[in-house]
Amino acid sequence: MKITLLGTGTSQGVPVIACECQVCKSKNQKDIRLRSSVMIEIDNQTFVIDTGPDFRQQMLRENVQKVDAVLFTHHHKDHVAGMDDIRAFNHKWKKDMQLYCTKPTQEALKREFPYVFSKFKYPGIPEVKINIIKNEPFKIQDTTIIPIEAQHYMMPVFGFRIKNFVYLTDVSAMSEAEKEKMKDADLIILDALRRKPHISHFNLEQALALLEELKPKQALLIHISHYMGLNDEVNKELPSHINLAYDGQVVNLNE
Ligand SMILES: [Zn+2]
Ligand SMILES: [Zn+2]
Ligand SMILES: [Zn+2]
Repeated sequence: MKITLLGTGTSQGVPVIACECQVCKSKNQKDIRLRSSVMIEIDNQTFVIDTGPDFRQQMLRENVQKVDAVLFTHHHKDHVAGMDDIRAFNHKWKKDMQLYCTKPTQEALKREFPYVFSKFKYPGIPEVKINIIKNEPFKIQDTTIIPIEAQHYMMPVFGFRIKNFVYLTDVSAMSEAEKEKMKDADLIILDALRRKPHISHFNLEQALALLEELKPKQALLIHISHYMGLNDEVNKELPSHINLAYDGQVVNLNE
């Protein structure tokens, strides 16, 4: 299984427009963060989790030729805004894009992209098939995906486990039962917004505390804000198996 970090930044991305802080001014490529998303290649299938505003740029940067399905964590703009650009894959492969999301996310997609779901469709718009998921394992072809429910302040969100890989973003609290699903992982990719507490995201301290409980072999932190600090300096403080993720990072996992 190959995991590619498409983006690792918070909703505004890094650098932030018009910000003059040292992180936003950094020349280090690892301090430049598109909105958070990840690509998973397994069993000849390619899945993407979330289509944020930078989806097009991410697909071009990674030279992605095929996406078989998109899994949505929740419907905040920084996770859905790029959905229109899946139509490039419709044109290339002449088939609907399979979307996996909860009912509330489906409703939000219908509000955000009404033309995609209208009865009389303008030619060339995205062709999608929505598959509603609940908090129970589901399959895409031969791959089993286990949703992990967490709280993003008041909003329920889904993380996903695929074999020994776990992705969970935009989380501020979760139940013990859901934590169980994240144990014995080889790689956990987890939300850690910044150092100071935040109402709807784990801060660095909370993310590290959860990882201490879950003990994955490796962990990467995402949804990072410019307030976190410089990538290389923050990484020096972290345990050796935990790092801030960077855009374009690839992790290969043995299944
Ligand atoms: Zn977000
Ligand atoms: Zn800044
Ligand atoms: Zn969010």
